[in-house]
Amino acid sequence: MERKVRVRFAPSPTGPLHIGGVRTALYNYLFARQHGGEMVLRIEDTDQTRFVPGAEDYIIEALDWLGIKFDEGVHIGGPYGPYRQSDRKAMYRQYAEQLLRDGWAYYAFDKPEALDAKRKEYEAQKKTFQYDCNTRGEMENSLSLPADEVQRRLQSGEQYVVRFKFPSNTDITVHDLIRGDVTMNSNLLDDKVIFKSDGMPTYHLANIVDDHTMKISHVIRGEEWLPSAPLHVMLYRAFGWEDSMPRFAHLPLLLKPEGNGKLSKRDGDRLGFPVFPLDWHDPKSGELSSGYRERGYFPEAVVNILAMLGWNPGTEQEIFSMDELIQAFSIEHVSKSGAKFNVEKAKWFNHEYMQMQDDESVAKMFEPILEEHGIHADHAYVVKVCGMMKERISFISEMWDQTSYFFTAPTAYEPAAVKKRWKPGMTTHINKIIDILNTQPFEYDALHKAILDEYIVGNQLNMGQIMNSFRLAVVGDTKGPDMLTLVMVIGKEETLSRLKRAVEVIGEPAAE
Ligand code: GLU
Repeated sequence: MERKVRVRFAPSPTGPLHIGGVRTALYNYLFARQHGGEMVLRIEDTDQTRFVPGAEDYIIEALDWLGIKFDEGVHIGGPYGPYRQSDRKAMYRQYAEQLLRDGWAYYAFDKPEALDAKRKEYEAQKKTFQYDCNTRGEMENSLSLPADEVQRRLQSGEQYVVRFKFPSNTDITVHDLIRGDVTMNSNLLDDKVIFKSDGMPTYHLANIVDDHTMKISHVIRGEEWLPSAPLHVMLYRAFGWEDSMPRFAHLPLLLKPEGNGKLSKRDGDRLGFPVFPLDWHDPKSGELSSGYRERGYFPEAVVNILAMLGWNPGTEQEIFSMDELIQAFSIEHVSKSGAKFNVEKAKWFNHEYMQMQDDESVAKMFEPILEEHGIHADHAYVVKVCGMMKERISFISEMWDQTSYFFTAPTAYEPAAVKKRWKPGMTTHINKIIDILNTQPFEYDALHKAILDEYIVGNQLNMGQIMNSFRLAVVGDTKGPDMLTLVMVIGKEETLSRLKRAVEVIGEPAAE
């Protein structure tokens, strides 16, 4: 029988969730939905020294904002809970004991100073110390010490760790859905700590026990976990769970824009793009790291950006809704090599999603910004302006710069444009336009005919010079949409008053 697809996203609450982590969550979500499966949010907080307050809530809020929904998890419960490892603490000991009993693990009593000394001793010989099948005999553990001594130490409450005992010289193969078979020899692997005398498991033990007891079918996670995968495979074997072991898929790294190395928090700061989904205020340093949400990215755009970083649909299509991604996603099309983050492409995606917003929604986003500028414009007017101008922006924060002249008359005129366009005789031309506006019907076609066709072309005047000066008078600059369209939006009275003011303020230039 085909196994039910159950995946999990298992972050450690050590800080804000990096977008690489968000992408892992997204790929898990797409895979689960596509297969009619379930997705679990599990918090892996066994390393209490790295715990950061607020990180768990941040992770939940970020994924919720992006529309990555869970079926079970720390925030919603479910039949395999609890979903926070610190709340599952009591259950791990029996598994560590099982491995000890079956000879797959051993107690190690080495003090940190002894381990340090050992490392130094190896360094002095230009070697690297690793606690493994070759060195464990030299160390203080239940394999090297007599049984009664081990008992005595345990009974006296001496601190210990439990280490996994790799068999020597054994090839361990991880079947990876993206990379194929990855084989490592156990002689290269160190006997990882899996449990500590304070009763806490380490990541490796807790992760395997949880994936097994939560009936996880597929482990989709970042490539940084590939080196741990042979240990995980061996743990499944040691527990006798290999038959129901999840299938593995290790996702390629997200790389710096230049392509050399993993995308880091510092790259974001350096290049001015966020590497976190939401703003994050570090509780210790108070430092702020900016997020996609606060920068004005649409959650759908962020999902689309991340989907395309490391996966391709095998077609030219670039814009995908979440539903389309669920349809199209496949692990086979996830690339093996790292994906370079491209800031310009990210902005392009947001621009595309801006165009998909209806004018009403853009206006709702823009109105608070208008308020900040002291403008309380009629809602229908804002909707109209947003509809006309949204094609010019990728982020709502850019809208004011593109449209301020729709809401306030210019108070100054761009000097370079004045110099270039406002030539002797211009006040006469502008006065003529004022005349036409006063006498002709206030309609696009009528004005076009009277100003452009009859007055300018008919008198063989300089079209660029006059229309740009007309614009300068109304906008204060030479930017903006089609001039008469703009005039129709701001209205007759406003246009007339701006034209009169420009004639007054700029006046007639001195003859050259
Ligand atoms: N807790 C690990 C992390 O923070 C999860 C690794 C895994 O998915 O197995 O990335």
